[in-house]
Amino acid sequence: MTKADNVTSEWSPSSWRPKPIAQSVKYEDQKHEKQVEDKLKQLPPMVTPSEIRRLKEQLKQVALGEAFLLQGGDCAELFEYCSQEPIESKLKVLLQMSLVLTWGARIPIVRIARMAGQYAKPRSSPTEMVNGQEVISFRGENINGFDPADRKPDPDRLLKAYFHSAATINYVRSIISSGFADLHHPSQWSLHHVRSETIRQEYSHIVDRVTDSLSFMHTIGAVSSPPLASVDIFMSHEGLVLPYEECLTRKLKDPVTDEFKWYNVSAHFLWIGDRTRQLASAHVEYFKGIENPIGIKVGPSMKADELGQFLDVVNPKKEIGKVTLITRYGAKEVDKHLPGHIEAVKKSGHVVVWACDPMHGNTEKSLSGVKTRYFDSIIEELSRTIRIHKAHRSRMNGVHFELTGDRVTECIGGSMELADEDLSQNYKTYCDPRLNYEQSMDIAFLIARYYEK
Ligand code: PEP
Ligand code: MN
Repeated sequence: MTKADNVTSEWSPSSWRPKPIAQSVKYEDQKHEKQVEDKLKQLPPMVTPSEIRRLKEQLKQVALGEAFLLQGGDCAELFEYCSQEPIESKLKVLLQMSLVLTWGARIPIVRIARMAGQYAKPRSSPTEMVNGQEVISFRGENINGFDPADRKPDPDRLLKAYFHSAATINYVRSIISSGFADLHHPSQWSLHHVRSETIRQEYSHIVDRVTDSLSFMHTIGAVSSPPLASVDIFMSHEGLVLPYEECLTRKLKDPVTDEFKWYNVSAHFLWIGDRTRQLASAHVEYFKGIENPIGIKVGPSMKADELGQFLDVVNPKKEIGKVTLITRYGAKEVDKHLPGHIEAVKKSGHVVVWACDPMHGNTEKSLSGVKTRYFDSIIEELSRTIRIHKAHRSRMNGVHFELTGDRVTECIGGSMELADEDLSQNYKTYCDPRLNYEQSMDIAFLIARYYEK
C-alpha cells in the first residue's frame, strides 16, 4: 500500500469501530444507545461544506504566514452556557482579542471558537475522589453529569449535546449577521467589566484609531459598510466521542468540484486530543477520512519520527491548511521537544499551521489544592515557542487558549495581579482553569506588541 492510499476505499464513518480506542464510553442499555444514534443520523447538519472549505482556505493562508489563527474557549463547555450572555461574552472576547492582534500584527485573524460542541472531556483516570468518595470521573456533559450522583453515562446526553450545539451556533450566526462584530462600532463591544485602567486605555486607543481610519476610508470612498459589518467565526471541538462524530458525518457535495466527500457537519474544525492520537487508534482512523480541517494536540510524548508518519496518514495529499499542529509541552519542556518536531515536519514535506497551546502543559495545583495556571508560565511558553520557530526558520502561526469572557478567577497573574489566595473568589471551571477577560486581553496585547511592525 502506498502512502497516498492511506484513505483507502474501506474508510467509512464507522471504520474506526474495530480499532483500539482510548477514552471510550460504555452504556448499560445498548438498545437505547442505538436509538439515539439513529436519531442523530437523521438530524440536519449544523455546518456546511462551503463553510468548511472557506475555513480550510483561510487556514492555508495561516500556514503560509499570511494570516494568524486565534482559537479559544472553554475547556469543558456546559449546557447552561447555551444562553445569551455567555455566548455573547465569549464572542466579544474573541473579537476584541482579534481586533488587537490584527491592529498590532497587521495581519488578518482567523477565529475559531471552542464552542457549540466542546462538551466531551478526556480524563486521566476513570474514577475520582469527591468529598472522600470514589465516583466515576466527570467526562463532560455529553457523557455524564457533574453532580457526583449523576455520573452514570446516559446516551440521551448525546442528543442534548446536539441540540445545545445547534442552539448555540444558531445564536452565533444570528448576532454576527445582525452586526454584532461590526467594525464600524467596536466601541459598542462594551468594556464594562474591565478593571485594569491600562487595558481599558490601550483598547480604547486602538478602537479610536480603527474608527478614524474607517471614517477616512469612507470619506474617500475606499470602503463600503457590508464587507466590514460581519466576520467569520468558526466552531470547533475535540472529536472525542466517535459514535457522535460518526452519526454527524455525511457524504455531501464539494461546492467547488462537485465531488461527493465525507464532512463532519457538527463543527467546522475538530481536533484529536493528546491522549487519543496513537497512530493505529480508532480516533486517527476516523480523522483520516473527513474533509474538515483538523487539529492534532502535540505534547512531550509525541516522538519526532512519528510526527511525519502521522501527517502522511491524516493528510496523504499534503493539503496546506488541512492540519494544525497544536503544541502543548509546558514552559519547561518546550525547548526540549519543539525543535525536533519542527525539523521532522520540514523533512516530511508537509506545510502545517503551527499553533501554540500554552495552557495544557502548564497546569499546576494551587496552594488551596485547585487546578490553576500561572500567567507567567503561559507567556513563557508562548515566547519560547515564537523564538524557537524563528531560530528554525519556521513561524508560530497561531494560538490556542482556554478562556472565557467572564470575570472568573482561575489562572494566577496578569495585569490584574490575581494571586493564589484570590482564586476562590470566582473559581467556576468544571475542568481546566481558563484565562478571564482581562488576562485574555493582556495576552492579545502582548502578542500584538511582539509582532508589531
Ligand atoms: C483540552 O484541550 O482541553 C485538552 C484536554 O487538551 P490535551 O488533549 O492537549 O490534553
Ligand atoms: Mn482543557
